[in-house]
Amino acid sequence: MEEMMKTIVLAGGGHTHLEVLRRLTAERDTELKWVLVSASRYHYYSGMFSGFAEGLYTLEEIRVDLKKICEDKKVDFIEDTLQSFDSAEQTAILSSGRCLAYDRLSLDIGSHTAPDQIEGLAEKQVQIKPAHLFPDRIEACRKAKELVIIGGGAAAVEMAFSFHQWKQQNGRKYDRVTVIASSELIDQKSDAVIETLFNHKGIRFLKGDAAVKVSDRYVITESGEEILYQEVIFLGGAQAHALLKKSGLPVDDKGFLKVNATLQSPDDSRIFAAGDCASLITHPHLPKSGVYAVREGEVLHHNLIASLKRESMKDYIPQRRALILLSTGGKQALMLYGKWRQFGSWAWWWKDYIDRGYMKKYQ
Ligand SMILES: Cc1cc2nc3c(=O)[nH]c(=O)nc-3n(C[C@H](O)[C@H](O)[C@H](O)COP(=O)(O)OP(=O)(O)OC[C@H]3O[C@@H](n4cnc5c(N)ncnc54)[C@H](O)[C@@H]3O)c2cc1C
Repeated sequence: MEEMMKTIVLAGGGHTHLEVLRRLTAERDTELKWVLVSASRYHYYSGMFSGFAEGLYTLEEIRVDLKKICEDKKVDFIEDTLQSFDSAEQTAILSSGRCLAYDRLSLDIGSHTAPDQIEGLAEKQVQIKPAHLFPDRIEACRKAKELVIIGGGAAAVEMAFSFHQWKQQNGRKYDRVTVIASSELIDQKSDAVIETLFNHKGIRFLKGDAAVKVSDRYVITESGEEILYQEVIFLGGAQAHALLKKSGLPVDDKGFLKVNATLQSPDDSRIFAAGDCASLITHPHLPKSGVYAVREGEVLHHNLIASLKRESMKDYIPQRRALILLSTGGKQALMLYGKWRQFGSWAWWWKDYIDRGYMKKYQ
């Protein structure tokens, strides 16, 4: 019977693999062996990052114990990182040097936040991603007299509000938070609302200017501004892990692994990828967001099994619009949905309800 056994290696404990694990049933196929390789014992839920930074949630509330889920679901758990994979040999090579043979390899290793285009940034910044690094690094940002956040998207704006709020409530009213955004704040429709809120709260921002260099004390922008910092975070977009490109499989222009609608590499149908690390050929401009990563879980779970059993595969079709509830600090939030922008406490309570409900499914 042993030679019939097929091995599915899940690399990375991100949002999509968490959903795959949830869908495994106790009475599942005994001919399939599942292995999870995760850089951390825990999965951290990005929807609650900002609330954690603000001090609204505890660490236990924002994370899921992957090792425990694996024990419950009879999945082998290996705390290690995927270093590379050899698609010809069908082996995954881990940082410890261990090699795992696989029949199917699924990648959900997320992204990181250390771009090499900004000189000096990699050595100086507080890196928020990979996600398991997040909790340890929040404290430094909370306590920084001058905190600079590079980026003008939802993650950057939300984290600016959260750190500002924490400082207000913890006797650090004279600290400063500065946001450097190369274009508008979030998008054209949200820009004016965010600008008003930033002005009202005293969050400093630069728009239409890009950080180009980080020296020992200053973040230097394209227009020549020098912004003093004690801590600097880059939240200006997801960056691809180098191992994807090194695999030799097709990647997009940013280095994310190309996959077709079945979440398989077009060059090797035994390799699957989902979440931030994947670039959907059918939707190349899909935002890197946890919302999509979670939804891919159902299709990935089905297709990993179906591909081994030669059953029909499912296509992942992203929803046209995603609801974004962006926390603005002090238990208020801004709702973004299509062309709608609405602000209030109700939006925060809605977000809190959704996020807590999401976590309850896994904890
Ligand atoms: C500050 C911030 C706030 C955000 N807020 C939101 C939000 O409110 N809503 C939303 O939808 N999106 C949000 N996002 C985006 C969201 O974080 C990502 O889109 C989402 O995490 C992607 O999920 P994933 O499954 O691809 O990867 P992740 O959930 O990031 O998981 C990848 C996992 O793989 C691990 N890993 C990395 N490399 C390896 C390796 N080589 N081997 C093994 N494991 C590895 C990582 O440690 C991590 O645990 C936010 C992002 C940031 C930075």
